[in-house]
Amino acid sequence: MADRSSEQVVFSKPKVELHVHLDGAIRVQTIMDVAKMRGKTLPVNTVEEMKKRIIVEKPGTLTSFLEKFNEYMHVIAGDREAIKRIAREFVEDKAKEGVIYVEVRYSPHLLANSGVKEIPWNQEEGDLSPDEVVRLVNEGLSEGEREFKIKARSILCCMRHMPSWSKDVVELCKKYKDEGVVAIDLAGDESLNCEANPEHMEAYEEAVRCGIHRTVHAGEVGPASVVKEAVEVLKAERVGHGYRTLEDDDLYKKLLAQNMHFESSRVGSSPCNRKVAGSSLGLDSLGRCVLGQDTSPCAPGWLWLQCSLPSPVCECVCEWVDDWICKALWGP
Ligand SMILES: [Zn+2]
Repeated sequence: MADRSSEQVVFSKPKVELHVHLDGAIRVQTIMDVAKMRGKTLPVNTVEEMKKRIIVEKPGTLTSFLEKFNEYMHVIAGDREAIKRIAREFVEDKAKEGVIYVEVRYSPHLLANSGVKEIPWNQEEGDLSPDEVVRLVNEGLSEGEREFKIKARSILCCMRHMPSWSKDVVELCKKYKDEGVVAIDLAGDESLNCEANPEHMEAYEEAVRCGIHRTVHAGEVGPASVVKEAVEVLKAERVGHGYRTLEDDDLYKKLLAQNMHFESSRVGSSPCNRKVAGSSLGLDSLGRCVLGQDTSPCAPGWLWLQCSLPSPVCECVCEWVDDWICKALWGP
């Protein structure tokens, strides 16, 4: 018990969170409420049953992890009130966790039902565009910021399997640059590289040209070559996860020398049972890591668990005032 309380003390310090997905951090109660209001069908009828369905308890594949989104995204997507509500509630939840600065990411297309090639989640076509989704999320985050006195910035995600969306994403980053959108991200199936999907590359070139910050999910499941592409081709300034960088010694040394920031989620990544080369923990080998919950409702208590990591890692989270982590933040 002594250990637990000392961890609690450390973890009560102010925190910065740089890698968390909005659509993976929705309150289960909100999903149930919105489903009822909109007359949307869910596979179960109570919060407890829904938690059992969408919370990942055991290691599995990344695909099985991502399939959880199919259970509830149709409820939230396409609904203006719900989108603003999840953004505001997200800020409230972060404030309660002691987070004082957060960069939350999401795909505007995955919450829209209009102006999207291939409308997601089997929704019928409506009138909510990705542009309006960004505006609504911005409103919800701003409301939360005012109410809960923390800073919340956002990162817009391109999806690897939908290269046709990427141009829109960078344009939205440009349009809402002064309204809390701080960067572009690329998420999804890492086997889909940018050589085969040049639209992602073009979007990132435009981001570089316009001074939009860049992060890329890479080396979480995919090999070190995906990290190399993220850094060298897409000019990523931070790497989402990046664990498999450790498989390429030259790349690893180069990125260490560059002070590359790895947005790591040691506990958040474990349900996917991925192998972290070089170290049982991985994080201390990766050098400069920032920790994030990634997809929080699917893994209760992860933020808490992260605090049981050895001190050099824990300090990455808790001593946020440390010089390098300040440099990793993209918000004003
Ligand atoms: Zn992520």
